Formats: sequence, C-alpha cells, structure tokens
Amino acid sequence: MEETTDTIIAINKKDLKPGDHIYAWRFLWIYNHHGIYVGDGQVIHFTTPHAALDEIAKENPNIPMEEDDEDFKSEPCPKCGYIVGGSLGIGVMKTCIDHFGKTLHLYVYDVSWIRFWLSRRGTCCPYKAKPLDQTVKTAYEKLKTGFGSYHLLTNNCEHFATFCKTGRKFSGQVMAKRVAPGVNLEELPIEELEKIAAGE
Ligand SMILES: [Zn+2]
Repeated sequence: MEETTDTIIAINKKDLKPGDHIYAWRFLWIYNHHGIYVGDGQVIHFTTPHAALDEIAKENPNIPMEEDDEDFKSEPCPKCGYIVGGSLGIGVMKTCIDHFGKTLHLYVYDVSWIRFWLSRRGTCCPYKAKPLDQTVKTAYEKLKTGFGSYHLLTNNCEHFATFCKTGRKFSGQVMAKRVAPGVNLEELPIEELEKIAAGE
C-alpha cells in the first residue's frame, strides 16, 4: 500500500456497508465521534451524558469540545427514538445515522506506525480489522451487555469502535493526553504504545 498522510476518507451514507467503522467531526458533543454502521441507516456507538462531558471538559481544558447546536430537548426521533439532551445518550446505543453525525468518514485500519504518526489522530489504527459481519455481531453484543463506564481517556467511543472491529481497544486521539508532558510518543516501544492507546 502506498504510504500517504491522507487517512481522512469522506463517505456517503449510501456507500456504507454494515460493519464499517465511521466517525463524524461534528457530533453533538466531543470532537470526533465514532461508531459502527450496522445497516438500515443505524449506527451503534458508545457515548456519555452531557453532564459527564462537562466534567471532563473542566478537568481537561486543552481538549477541544464541541457545543451542541441543536435544541436541548427535542421530540423523540421517529427513526431511532433519540431525544436530543435526553437520557438515551448513556452507554452503548443504536441511533439513526442522522443522530450519529452529519459529515461521515471511514476509519482506516492496518496502517503502519509510520503512517499513523503522519496522520491526524482518531482517523486510523495500526491493527487489522475483522470481517464486517463479525464487527456487526460484536457491536450488537455490546449493545446488550454494555462497554463499561465511559471515560474520555481510557474508555471512549473510539475504543468502542476499534474493539468491535479488531477485538482490541485503540484510541489514537487521546494518546498524547495519557503521557507526561515532554514525552515523545514516537520514541516509545510499540508494546507500550498499544497499552497507552488501549487505555491500560
Ligand atoms: Zn434519529
């Protein structure tokens, strides 16, 4: 595969396949939000209520947070039952794609670490993806059993989606927040990087 810095791949709703890991830059709350497309216009994703994110924002003033630009309370969505600002936004949930995000991108798997360092975090991962049908199966299992407590740095939406795709948690977008200031991630051994990315 050609080495490139461009791992940001926009994708149209109509081109999605069940089992695709997608993310959106603009979601209701945090910077890029991740989920697994499961077909029929539905996405399974892992999230947290507004109050918890407000706490995280206070504790981590350097992490960019997005404002919710919809009305705080809305009628339940006829397609997925989602209520903006309602209590559905806790843990693993299935919503329609419109309530997942607007500008969709396809997450890239099996990139070299070199390509990973050159890419924007939260767009790709060095692990190999499982077949699409297995990814969908895992996402539905977690919809039933949950994915533990949300934590932005150790158990977030990217951890959830990469777990469904590979069986291992990986979040590139918070790696830098998990090491002491001045530590150069690129100089750490891969085993250590994998632990940092997994939230361990
Ligand atoms: Zn909806």
